[in-house]
Order: sequence, then structure tokens, then C-alpha cells
Amino acid sequence: MESIRLVCTACGEKRTAAEAVFRCPACGEPLEAEERSGSIDRRRLDAFGRYAGFYPESLAKRFKSLGEGGTPLVALPEEGKALEINLYVKNESQNPTWSFKDRGTLTAVAHAKALGFDRIGTVSTGNMAVSTAAYGAAEGLPTVVLVKRGLPREKVGPILAYKPRLIQVDGPYGELYDRSLVLGREKGIYFMNSDVPFRVEGYKTTAYELFEQLGGRVPDWVVVPVSSGGHLRGIEKGFRELKRSGFIDRIPAMVCAQAAGCAPIHEAFLEKRSIRPFKNPETVAKAIANPFPPSGNAVLSLLERTKGTAEAVTDREILQAHEALAGWGLLVQPASAVALAACRKLRKAGRLAPGASVVCLLTGSGLKTPAAFQGWIRGEAEACPLSDLQNRL
Ligand SMILES: *Cc1c(COP(=O)(O)O)cnc(C)c1O
Ligand SMILES: [Zn+2]
Repeated sequence: MESIRLVCTACGEKRTAAEAVFRCPACGEPLEAEERSGSIDRRRLDAFGRYAGFYPESLAKRFKSLGEGGTPLVALPEEGKALEINLYVKNESQNPTWSFKDRGTLTAVAHAKALGFDRIGTVSTGNMAVSTAAYGAAEGLPTVVLVKRGLPREKVGPILAYKPRLIQVDGPYGELYDRSLVLGREKGIYFMNSDVPFRVEGYKTTAYELFEQLGGRVPDWVVVPVSSGGHLRGIEKGFRELKRSGFIDRIPAMVCAQAAGCAPIHEAFLEKRSIRPFKNPETVAKAIANPFPPSGNAVLSLLERTKGTAEAVTDREILQAHEALAGWGLLVQPASAVALAACRKLRKAGRLAPGASVVCLLTGSGLKTPAAFQGWIRGEAEACPLSDLQNRL
């Protein structure tokens, strides 16, 4: 671990990764693992074996995989034709706990083990809680999940199934992110929150997969639904490392897609300022409703670096995209549909050129949020006696 260094995403300050310090002591912005060159082991088919060359040995040897990554890239030719682009979606619902979070949980757990932690934790209400609890169970590591008070029963069940300690905390939820990192250091619990450096490291593999799945090329645009910003940062870092390693000579333009009901990064992007808390967040895309994203400023600088952009879409636009994706056989979370909704909007505004190649990230499974598609399902199940079935068909 001594060999890994962390670099501040804002001021360039350097630290070693031998401690669980996740934010820059000088300016408070997120730290990230220093960029490195890597290699692809084409004999391996498991994602974290195939791309182990992009991780330090001390980390890679501690990966205990549940089969995360290696998700399908699906072309949507009809939707693409209508939009006059080459459109693909990367289906991250095909992960062990049905969201992309597993890629980052794997690498964060490996870092926790390398530092000698014997307890892990996270602050989340949804996919990250489930993912962290699952990997904690698989590793036999006591796991604590902090949620806000009053989490609905259907969200509690899938977390408790993996038998972590689940604590509902009263008080301002926004403060829990920072408090948990401080308490974690005090109590010896490795809190793998949304954008900590070694969670972001796991998300790099999505860029490597896209490069290989597109036959050794990268798309023009990558559209990602953003909450904390950890996922988008990890994918962009993966492209930077592919470039540094000589695999590619350009990095795709990255798109930060948000729900209009909670769009702190989109607002800051338009107003050319740093991130501020978004007032009264309210959206159907609950998984991306962080009003004060901890990686907000880091995302703003990567949008500038990659000549990317930010877009925000209304709940109506989100649900239309949600329904359309189901029509192509892909039932995802409303938060995931935000990527396609933003893509449609950017294309109509002429921000994406005709013929561009575009990948939208489908971040999580629709079965996590069954209530969301009740809104647009039409028709009822039919019923008939067996004797009548022949006539019915
Ligand atoms: C966590 C999550 C996101 C947002 O990812 P960040 O890394 O917080 O930006 C988007 N969609 C789904 C389904 C998620 O679970
Ligand atoms: Zn700094």
C-alpha cells in the first residue's frame, strides 16, 4: 500500500494510501489514487482478473470477486436511428447486487483489508447499502450500514438479508457522510462511502470494458446519471489510464445527467460556479437525489477537461425514457433512465452531432423500484377458464 499515492482532485496535494484518509487535508476536496499505466490480460475473462494490471499488486491480490463487472453492452438500433446516433447502453443491473456499486465495493473492501481493517461500513439508503452488506457477508467482515430514520420496509429487507448492523440515524442526513468518515477512523471502521478513492477505483473497469466491447475504440460520448459523482469520476479515470497506457489517443466527452428535481451539478455547470446545496430536492429518481454531492467540484472539472456537458431532465422525461427502455427489453431504475432522457434532450438541442457514438450507463435494476413503473403500466392481466383458452388465443 505504501507504493500507492493519493492526489487531491483540486489542489494536487499528495498523500500515501497507507491510511484511510479520503479527502484532502489541505482543501477538503476528494483525493484519488494516482493515475497509472496498466495492461489487459486477455487470457482472463473475469473483469477484475482481466484488468488487474490497472491496480497495484497489493490491492489486486486481495480482490474477492462475486463476479462483478463484465456487463453487457447493448446496441439500441431503433432508438439510435430515431435520434440519428449510434446508441448503446451498458447494463449494470447485471452485477451481483444488481447495480454498478459492486465494482467499487470490491476494490474498497480490498483496500480496507490491505490496511488491516476488520470492520467496514457505509452510509446509504439504497444500492450501496445492499452492495456493501453483500461483500461484507461474503468476506465475513462485520458491516455497519447507516441509514436515515424511517427507511421504508421494502428497502430495509434487502439490506438486512445480508445480516449487517443496520442503524437508523436521527438528524441531518447530509452530515452523516463526513461524520461517518471521522467516526470510522476513531473506531476502526472503514467507511466505503459513495466517492471514496478506492470505490472510485473499481468504476475504472467500466471504461476498460467499453474500450474492448467497441472493438478497441471509445465512444464519442458517455452519459452517466450522477448523484455523488463517484461513478462518473471512476469511468473518466479509467479512460485517462487507457490513454496513458497507449490504448487510446482521446478521451470521450463525459455527460453528467441529473434529475431536474435535484440538479446541483447541472446548476453549478450552467452558472460556472462551484457546487452549492440544492434546495428542496424532489424527484422520482431517488437513487441520484444527493443535494450536495461530495464529488461535485471534481465532476465539474472533469466535464471541462473532457469537453463534456451537464443536462437535467424532468420526472416526466425520466419516466418516458424508463418506459421506452422497458420497450427495448430493459427494465431499469428511474435513476438509470435519466441517462437516456438526457441523451435524447442533448441530441434534440444539437449538442450531440448526428452520427455520434453514445453510451448511456444503465446503473441499476428496475426490480429495486417496482412502484416506479406502476405509473405507466397499462392494461390488466386477463383471466379465463381453461376451457375457454383455445378461443382466447
Ligand atoms: C449510486 C447510484 C447512482 C449515482 O452514482 P454516484 O456515484 O453517487 O454518482 C446512479 N444510479 C444508481 C442506480 C445508483 O445506485
Ligand atoms: Zn486539495
